[in-house]
Amino acid sequence: MHLLILTACLAASPGDCAPRLLPQGAGGDAAACQARGDSVSADWLAGHPDLTGKGWTCVPLDQAPALELTELAPGVHVHRGADGPLSRENRGRIANLGVVIGDQRVAVIDPGGSREEGEALFAAIRRLTDLPIGPVILTHMHPDHIAGAEVMAEAGGEIIADARLPDAIAARRETWLESIPAQIGAQPWLGTALVAPARVIAAETTLDLGGTTLTLTPVATAHTDSDLTVRDARSDTLFTGDLVFRRLTPVLDGSLKGWLAWLAAPPPEAARVVPGHGPVAATLAEAAADETAYLGALRDAVRAALDAGQGLSAAVPAVAAALAPLAPAWADFDATTARNAAAAFAEMEWD
Ligand SMILES: [Zn+2]
Repeated sequence: MHLLILTACLAASPGDCAPRLLPQGAGGDAAACQARGDSVSADWLAGHPDLTGKGWTCVPLDQAPALELTELAPGVHVHRGADGPLSRENRGRIANLGVVIGDQRVAVIDPGGSREEGEALFAAIRRLTDLPIGPVILTHMHPDHIAGAEVMAEAGGEIIADARLPDAIAARRETWLESIPAQIGAQPWLGTALVAPARVIAAETTLDLGGTTLTLTPVATAHTDSDLTVRDARSDTLFTGDLVFRRLTPVLDGSLKGWLAWLAAPPPEAARVVPGHGPVAATLAEAAADETAYLGALRDAVRAALDAGQGLSAAVPAVAAALAPLAPAWADFDATTARNAAAAFAEMEWD
């Protein structure tokens, strides 16, 4: 298989260019790819008016950058994100991404944190299978998980998310389009569009991949207000999205009370659990142990600050000090804990 790679540049800053893989141009030998190059590039640029093209090329699949995928069970693959905050070094590749290959189609569970990562995930999938891309499930609204979605839509995938996700993204899109390239660099983000899902769900939904099914379960506001879990039937693998963090400090962007309630009444155990960040675990109990301790300590410390009559400005450092013994287990502890303390304070202030 050959892949079409367009050199795309920012119209406003023509020196800022990046190679963009266009999935519509993928397939066949070099001649077939070259026959499509002009029209696919022109169509794609028409949909990305902030970019200009500077030529394209066709490369064999094995020469295109591809994410590293680890097979957890037959047909179930995961890309492990970097256990840290967004940075130029990790290019925004911090979330765990899942791929489930059924007998008839491939599902993607979170398409990555940038256009660039989505492209590298597409190339990695094509090294494994020629089956069509089917459901592309967004576990929640955060861009480190979903910014690669447009690549998968161009590849023919159907973007599926919780019904609350489009509003959540709309409220934050303009901020993210500025803040994220500043954190990860212009190149991986160049051409990234935060696309709306083609399909939203408001209740448990089962998707057939042929030979296995995925069950999507929306969750009441917890990590965010658009969380869902995904369970693969054949392998009994549970993908929790960011309802479970390991190693990277949990980010509270929904409801602490709701998150603790989900942890207190979790879904049934699975053969393995893929958290949103951090290593795959053998059980949900193992996966969630550190996070449960962290969020419980956060709740207790905020409650103590409120009981002591502290205002926000005194409570945040007090909570950070109370949680400090937990710091060695977590990356990006200080900055995230300070934000979590403020968020939990705002939520619990009126309890
Ligand atoms: Zn998240």
